[in-house]
Amino acid sequence: MSDAKRIKELRDLLTRANRAYYTDADPIMSDREFDALLDELATLEHNHPGLADPNSPTVRVGGQPIAGFETKKHAVPMLSIDNTYNEQEVRDWVNRTKKAMSDDGSALFNAAGSGFVCEPKIDGVAMSIRYESGVFVQALTRGDGTEGDDVSHAVRTIRSLPLKLEPSKGITIPDVLEVRGEVYIPLSEFERINEERETNGDEPFMNPRNACAGTVKQLDPKAAADRKLGFLAHGIGEVSAPDFARSFSEFIEKTTKLGIPTTDQRRLAAGVDEILREIDRVDKLRHGLDYATDGVVIRVDSLAQQDALGVTSKSPRWVIAYKFPAERKTTVLVDVAHQVGKTGKITPRATLEPVLLAGTTVTHATLHNYGMVRQRDLHIGDTVEVEKAGEIIPQVIGVVKEERPKRAKPVLPPDTCPDCDAPLEIEPHEAIEDPTKETTRRCVNPECPAQIREKLVWFVGRRQMDIDSLGEQTIDQIRASDIPLNHFADIYRLHEHREALLELERMGEKKIENMLSSIEASKSRGLARLLGAMGIRHVGTSTAKALAKVFPDYDALLSAKPYELMPMAVNRMSGKKRMELFGLDDKLENEYETGLGEDTAEVFYAYLHSKPARETFEQFRDLGLDLSSQEYVEAGQTQDSPFAGKTIVLTGTLEHFTRPELSEKLEAMGAKVSGSVSKKTDLVIAGESAGSKLTKAQSLGVEVWNEQQLLSALAD
Ligand SMILES: [Zn+2]
Repeated sequence: MSDAKRIKELRDLLTRANRAYYTDADPIMSDREFDALLDELATLEHNHPGLADPNSPTVRVGGQPIAGFETKKHAVPMLSIDNTYNEQEVRDWVNRTKKAMSDDGSALFNAAGSGFVCEPKIDGVAMSIRYESGVFVQALTRGDGTEGDDVSHAVRTIRSLPLKLEPSKGITIPDVLEVRGEVYIPLSEFERINEERETNGDEPFMNPRNACAGTVKQLDPKAAADRKLGFLAHGIGEVSAPDFARSFSEFIEKTTKLGIPTTDQRRLAAGVDEILREIDRVDKLRHGLDYATDGVVIRVDSLAQQDALGVTSKSPRWVIAYKFPAERKTTVLVDVAHQVGKTGKITPRATLEPVLLAGTTVTHATLHNYGMVRQRDLHIGDTVEVEKAGEIIPQVIGVVKEERPKRAKPVLPPDTCPDCDAPLEIEPHEAIEDPTKETTRRCVNPECPAQIREKLVWFVGRRQMDIDSLGEQTIDQIRASDIPLNHFADIYRLHEHREALLELERMGEKKIENMLSSIEASKSRGLARLLGAMGIRHVGTSTAKALAKVFPDYDALLSAKPYELMPMAVNRMSGKKRMELFGLDDKLENEYETGLGEDTAEVFYAYLHSKPARETFEQFRDLGLDLSSQEYVEAGQTQDSPFAGKTIVLTGTLEHFTRPELSEKLEAMGAKVSGSVSKKTDLVIAGESAGSKLTKAQSLGVEVWNEQQLLSALAD
């Protein structure tokens, strides 16, 4: 098969697999197979730049960063929807709409006998997605409704969204089909992102919508690919075929068949009673959905009637959004704890009298920072109002001052670290004059036990070093004993304290054995996982990975110049600034996004070269931790191997490997695996029934190995 043909075959197959997984929830291959085929496709595409396709399934893992956003005009204005919080207003709207339609002489009913469609209002980022001849060409944000930002690079990474529409029986795909909908962050993913941000020392996102907006506005699509965005269609933009759909529900039904994700919570309603029942139904079930919802959108189903109703200056008359009032309850502030996080940041956390709020019993709420505490003049014993931000995180939003008990004491920030008594740093500077402006209060002691505990807990976490038998409780138990556990390196010395460990409660031989072997196994996680696990300021999981792709090991990272830690940021600087700061005449050739910028790279550089950091890494080395980058090898950099720097072609059927597996293996050893034989080919590996590639290799005099030769070279 020619490479061009194979590329097409792989693209079709992977597109089908995506659809089967995301739309039909009926996978046709394992994740492993999917990844292997995706790798094979990436290799072929790399070797055939002429066959590039912006909608290849490989863009799901993130293409090239863009330089900036281009603003583009919407083909059909993207208006916002009128909101109401009030049942009576919904009734009025229904009556008005019905009256307008009967004045017009037309009946407000679709074929199904219903006039309206209701669906949950998803709290995400509105997006207009344009397909031309069935192919994804563009995604625009709403912007001001007339023009939006082109964020195609980020939206292409959404795996549930087809880049090519799947033809479906009886549906003619219009030349132009614009589908509007909501890009959102699943709630489970939202939690993961916030956890990661906290490690980086970044403020967590307040709600999934902020997180989503921040993600689609990243210039580097890899950032979007890393966060698993979702999309659900709920609107119509430009459609070149006027007869494509006569009603909104028909439009959604057809686009669903073409592979575009839509909600299964859409219901038809004949009149106001059914609409109000639907609002009630969605309100009850919405806390169980994996996306944030804040209301119900109600619209006239018939497109002809929508046209007849028209638009006001800012929003259509044929649609309205009923928004659920953010559920707010009052309860009593019992106490405020001052929690020290792993970056030393101290966060006031309220303990409340238990209260049922938006589906869960709430006993704690965030007070964000001491500036907020001052603004609200919080006292212990106060009756406070609580609400869930974006329906997720409980927060105290106000105080009922009239109900303050006499002699109630104000909530005061700690003067020194509540755990180690070390001095605190307060930010921003003006907060010293005006305490209501305070955003951050941080313990400056790098050896603060509370910080160390949080850091150790993070370090052993599943997505970090994954030491599963050393959990939070065991860490506390060991730290309460005489066994030293104050540094990451101490984890790797626990085996020296086997006897003492045995004396701890609930610590049997078997448990210790498990713990020590999972500690041992964690030594080989490599540099990216280790950096990400250490909770270094500004170095979260994705930055750690990015660095490990570029630097083969810790030593290389240590000898990196400051500008090498942030080449993209350097290349975005003006020439003058680049010269001033780093003495660089030219832009850097090797561009890679690390996620570090001017300020953050400086902090990380200073940390790497500090005495404590150097000691920590030297101890890791002595204790046998792998300080090299598996990611670097995977990124295809050359290594000492018989295959390093060689261009290799695989042909025929191999007994011990699939081709994608072998490609991956050889690339990991520094080879470039190509799809076709030419004079530049260094080596052809020929399996059973190899065909034209083998003949060509022989005619060009290229070295040919059989599988046996390959196996013995790999064994060396
Ligand atoms: Zn402290």
